[in-house]
Order: sequence, then C-alpha cells, then structure tokens
Amino acid sequence: MAQLTVQPIPCLRDNYAYLVRCESTGLVAVVDPSEAEPIQTALRTFEGELIAIWNTHHHWDHTGGNEALVGQYPGLQVFGHHSDRGRIPGQTDDLEDGSVFTFGQLNVRVRHVPGHTTGSIAYFVQNEVFTGDMLFIGGCGRLFEGTPSMLFESLSQLKRYCRPENRLWVGHEYTESNLRFAQAAEPQNEAIRKALERSQSLQVTIPGSWADELATNPFVRAETVESLGALRAWKDEF
Ligand code: ZN
Ligand code: FE
Repeated sequence: MAQLTVQPIPCLRDNYAYLVRCESTGLVAVVDPSEAEPIQTALRTFEGELIAIWNTHHHWDHTGGNEALVGQYPGLQVFGHHSDRGRIPGQTDDLEDGSVFTFGQLNVRVRHVPGHTTGSIAYFVQNEVFTGDMLFIGGCGRLFEGTPSMLFESLSQLKRYCRPENRLWVGHEYTESNLRFAQAAEPQNEAIRKALERSQSLQVTIPGSWADELATNPFVRAETVESLGALRAWKDEF
C-alpha cells in the first residue's frame, strides 16, 4: 500500500485543494483550502484525522477556507512561508527554504519558489510535489510580486529537486490553455502537440509529472532569464 494518499478537491471555478493522508498513521493535511465547504464534504468520507493546512501562498483562492477549518478543528496547524505571516489567515508555523517537518511517519520538505508571490513555497513529500500557482501543468503563474529572474531561480530550484517520476499537484486546472500557448511558443514540439491533444480529452489533468514538464512546459524549458521574461510577458497577453 502506498504510504501517502492524495485526493484532489475541485474548488471555486478551477482551483484544486488536496487532501493528503499518511497511511501508517491516518493523519490528514489539506493543501490550499480555497473554500471550506468542499473540504468539509470530502472529509466526511475521507478517513483520518485532519491536523494541518499546508498553504503554498497567501492568495485568497488558496487560503479562503483557512478560518472556517481552524474554527471547526481547533489546534489545526497552518503552515506557510515566514514572509506570509499576517497574510495567511491562522498561520501557526513559519517555513523557509529547506525546512523539513514531520507529517505522521513522513518528512515534508519545503522549497521557497518566489515569483508568482514573494512567499510562494512548494511542498515535497515522497513522490508528490505541491506547487500552488508557481508551476502549472504546461505553464506557470503570473508574476504578481516577483521578477523574471526570481522566477528563473525558482524554476532552477525545481530542476535541482524534482525527479522525473515526481507527480505534480498544481493550484489550477489551466492545462489546456497553457498547452495552447506552449504550442504557439514551440510549434515544432511533438511532445506539446500530444500533451495538448490529451488534455482536450480530459476534464482533470492532475497530477502532472516532472518528466512531462521538462518536455512540454516552455517556462521550464526557457534557458535564460531574458527568454523566460519574454515568454511570461507574451503569455500575459495571449
Ligand atoms: Zn495565486
Ligand atoms: Fe490561484
């Protein structure tokens, strides 16, 4: 049996929250509860004990359910980057690049990946990576608070720490439109053509894999800060 179970919870229009369970202890965490209601509904059938919220960044569509869940589950730990203290409702635990915390019998590792926001972090546990809005399947988040060079360094962090087989659980279902942009950026790329075709036949495209991102995500594939910045500016208008 897998040591870790991940269940996606569609929220709002196109957000994903995730329930995560350590199978040896039955402890449960929720990643980015956009809103409380769908999480509460899912928890009626998802067995285990909710002990923590893992927030990837402060945006309301990732933290909107925090307060209601903390109210319902007193003592819930709320994790976020230390710089998001005051911006993430109910934050109790401050993380930084390289932080490791225990979740049941598992270790969760944190990487600081600023760009979309200055406090964006990714959570690594076993074969699973939770990226929030820093990385989408086939794309990446807009630079609301960061610069292209910040994003370039954050993508380099992923290149250092992601294994090809890692599964990527991202913040939004934007895959099809991202891959349409990717195809415009790299019209000769056969892997992008196939991934776009596949995404058009699916309602839910998560999880992605790091191997697929290396082959298809133009932002991951950009080799210089300049080309990354140009891609991001183009995508903002696409
Ligand atoms: Zn966001
Ligand atoms: Fe978002």
